[in-house]
Amino acid sequence: MLSMTLQEWEETLKQWGEPKFRAKQIFDWLHKKQITEIDDMTNISKGLREKLKQNGKISYTRQVKKLVSQIDGTIKYLFEIENGLVIESVFMHYHYGNTACISTQAGCRMGCSFCASTLDGVERNLTAGEMLSQIYEMQKDTGERISSVVLMGSGEPLDNYENVLRFLHLANDKNGLHLGQRHITLSTCGLVEKMYDLLEEDLQITLAVSLHAPNDRIRQKIMPIAKKYSMQEILKVCKEYSDKTKRRVTFEYALIKGINDSDDCAEELASKLHNMLCHVNLIPINDVKERNYCKSSEERVKKFTYIMEQKGIETTIRRKLGSDIDAACGQLRKSYQLHS
Ligand code: SAH
Repeated sequence: MLSMTLQEWEETLKQWGEPKFRAKQIFDWLHKKQITEIDDMTNISKGLREKLKQNGKISYTRQVKKLVSQIDGTIKYLFEIENGLVIESVFMHYHYGNTACISTQAGCRMGCSFCASTLDGVERNLTAGEMLSQIYEMQKDTGERISSVVLMGSGEPLDNYENVLRFLHLANDKNGLHLGQRHITLSTCGLVEKMYDLLEEDLQITLAVSLHAPNDRIRQKIMPIAKKYSMQEILKVCKEYSDKTKRRVTFEYALIKGINDSDDCAEELASKLHNMLCHVNLIPINDVKERNYCKSSEERVKKFTYIMEQKGIETTIRRKLGSDIDAACGQLRKSYQLHS
C-alpha cells in the first residue's frame, strides 16, 4: 500500500465505488501520519478497512538493531523486512539538516570486490514502500525530520529501476514526504543503459557515480560491471546528464591502498574529468576483512586530493561520521546474519 501513488489510490477507490476524497485520507494516513496498521485509519469505515486488509498490506519494516555514535550522533539501523531479510539504513546529522542513507535491495548482485553488501548476491528488490518506510521509521525513532536522502545503502538502485523511480516520485509528492528532488542522491556503479533511461525521466535528482578507478584496466579489477560498460561510456552519459540538468555529477572514489591511489591514478582521473561539471568525493575505503583491501594513508589521501585540485577538479574527502559504530558498508548486516 505504501508503494501506491495518490492517483492509483483514486483509481482503485473509484472502482470500489468510494468517493475520491477517501484516497487522500488513506494517503495521509500512510505518508503523513505514517501508521503501520490499517486499523489505525480511524476516519475510514470498518468495512473499507476490511477491504483494504483483504487486498493489500502496509510494508513491514521492523527495527532489529540500532547503534548510536557517541561522537556525532550518527545512527545505524538494521531493519527486518518481509521474509526475515535484514537491510541497513543510516541517519546522519549535517549542519544543513538530517540525511538518511537507505537501501534499495537486500544484498546486491554487482559484485564490487571491496563491498560487503554484495558478498551473498542479491536477495530481493525492495519495493518503493520499503524504501520509504526506512525513512519513516528513522523519523519516528529520532523524532526528527529527514531533509535529504541518499540511495547509498545496500543494492544497486538502477538494478531495481521501476521501484526506485516509483520511490522518487512518492518521496517528492507534496501530499507525502515532499522531499525536493535536489535533496535526493542516486548512486550507481554505472549501468549505462539505465542511466540513459534516467536521463529521459527529466528529474532533478543528484547523480552520483561510483568510479573508483581512473581507467578500465583498474576498474575491471575491482568492479565486474566495468567489463560491461567502459569508463568512456559512463563519462559520456554523465556529461549528457549534467548538460541537460545543469547539475553537477558526483564521482565517488574509494581509495584502496596500492590499487587506485597513486599519483598517476590521480593525474589520469583528473585529465579524464577535465571539462566536466562534476565533483569528486574521495572515500578512504572501509576495510573488508574478506578481501585484502586496506585504506590509503592519510598522507596519500591528501596528496591525491592535492593533485586533483591542482588540475582544477573539485575534490572533497568524505566526512567520516559514526567512526565508533563503523561497521563499514553492509558489514553491520553481515555480522547480524552470522550471529543470529
Ligand atoms: N550500488 C550503488 C550504491 C550503493 S554503495 C553504487 O555502487 O554506487 C554506495 C557507495 O559505497 C558506493 O560508492 C560504493 O562503491 C561504496 N562502497 C562500498 N563498499 C565500500 C567500502 N568498503 N568502503 C568505502 N566505500 C564503499
